[in-house]
Amino acid sequence: MVGQFHVVVVGGGFAGLTTALALAHKRSSVSVVLVEPQEHFLFTPLLYELLSGELQTWQVAPKLDHLLAGRGVAWLQDRVTSINRQTRCLTTSSGRNLSFDRLVLACGGVLQSFGVPGVTDHAIGFRTMADLRCLRHLVHRLQTRPQPLQRLAVVGAGASGVELACKLADLLAGKAFIELIEQGDKILAGSREFNRQQALAALQQRDVSLRCRSRVQGVAADHLTLLVQGQTETLPCAGVIWTAGLAVAPPPLLPSAPTDSQGRLICQADLRLAGEEAVFAAGDVAAVPDNRNQQPLPATAQVAIQQAPVLAHNVLASLDGEPLQDFRWNDLGEMLSLGRGQATITAKGLTMAGPTAAKLREAVYLVRMPGAGHRLAAAVGWLGEHLRP
Ligand SMILES: Cc1cc2nc3c(=O)[nH]c(=O)nc-3n(C[C@H](O)[C@H](O)[C@H](O)COP(=O)(O)OP(=O)(O)OC[C@H]3O[C@@H](n4cnc5c(N)ncnc54)[C@H](O)[C@@H]3O)c2cc1C
Repeated sequence: MVGQFHVVVVGGGFAGLTTALALAHKRSSVSVVLVEPQEHFLFTPLLYELLSGELQTWQVAPKLDHLLAGRGVAWLQDRVTSINRQTRCLTTSSGRNLSFDRLVLACGGVLQSFGVPGVTDHAIGFRTMADLRCLRHLVHRLQTRPQPLQRLAVVGAGASGVELACKLADLLAGKAFIELIEQGDKILAGSREFNRQQALAALQQRDVSLRCRSRVQGVAADHLTLLVQGQTETLPCAGVIWTAGLAVAPPPLLPSAPTDSQGRLICQADLRLAGEEAVFAAGDVAAVPDNRNQQPLPATAQVAIQQAPVLAHNVLASLDGEPLQDFRWNDLGEMLSLGRGQATITAKGLTMAGPTAAKLREAVYLVRMPGAGHRLAAAVGWLGEHLRP
């Protein structure tokens, strides 16, 4: 390779941050710029523990300047607003233009409202620190100024909805009822059976009211409108938390790139956009075929983290004119948080539930945190908490 090449990574989440660190580690002669508007990385699987106070902000949402110090990655705190694939130049919201030899798109997902009226105005998402602050405020209000028959509705009984419903039920025990609303006929449709059964038991123990086959038609400040077996119902509630679905909103590309039915950028197995030489994508924004069945891989942190080393290798190989590798996902299993100090795990033939599973889940996640220094500090902090007499 001759001269200095410029690689720009868009998005400092699981896929982008891990790829940027791997690129800088592998090749110091390549300049790596990470463009990310938030000042922290967010370890979303532990957002529930941050809500409940079981973990601290520095452990779950460490500052990017801390994670990147001395790691050879330049961080631009900005948002990419458009990308010209022909001129290999991108624009940011503060008006900067950045040229690149290779681009990695890792801008993740956003709340999916499915066009349901009132969701963006009245519901709280559960994806960002801003969402967390809103939810904390609501929980605090319900804890400190209780009204009779308070009810919170969590919409979507996928992993996020189930985990959040359990945590909220523990935080608001005796103060509010939790309703978990799902349009399908069961919770955790894509999960392992052991975890599903553990989750059902955890919801029952906490008196979370589960409403399946119920489709939300509208959200207002103090109620939800539901369609249940062809009948419209009104459900008064003090707050609605929306965890149903995932949308993606990558910056506009010129010329546009092919997307799947969910708007995800269609990628080849080597993580390049279909028919592209210089632009790669990974994480939630990318539709990458599963090597086992050619179906798109799930939008999970596990997939995003595993993509990073292959992506870093392929970016450098493409600059060197060498062959690229295909990404192969190794499904490591599933861990769910089920309320304060409780979890369930199904992984590689192992099933486990209860407090030990919760401790194992937290430990596994804290050592997966991008950035070796932070990983160590977070894990030591966690050990300190758990070894306390
Ligand atoms: C509450 C919750 C719990 C979860 N639990 C699990 C779990 O237990 N296990 C699991 O495997 N997965 C879990 N997930 C899914 C996981 O968080 C995502 O799959 C993962 O974050 C995807 O990584 P990513 O890098 O694609 O996107 P993200 O981690 O979302 O990062 C994207 C980044 O891009 C930035 N960005 C967006 N647009 C732009 C732009 N235009 N310019 C620059 N930057 C931009 C964003 O600010 C963000 O920091 C959970 C998700 C949530 C919300």
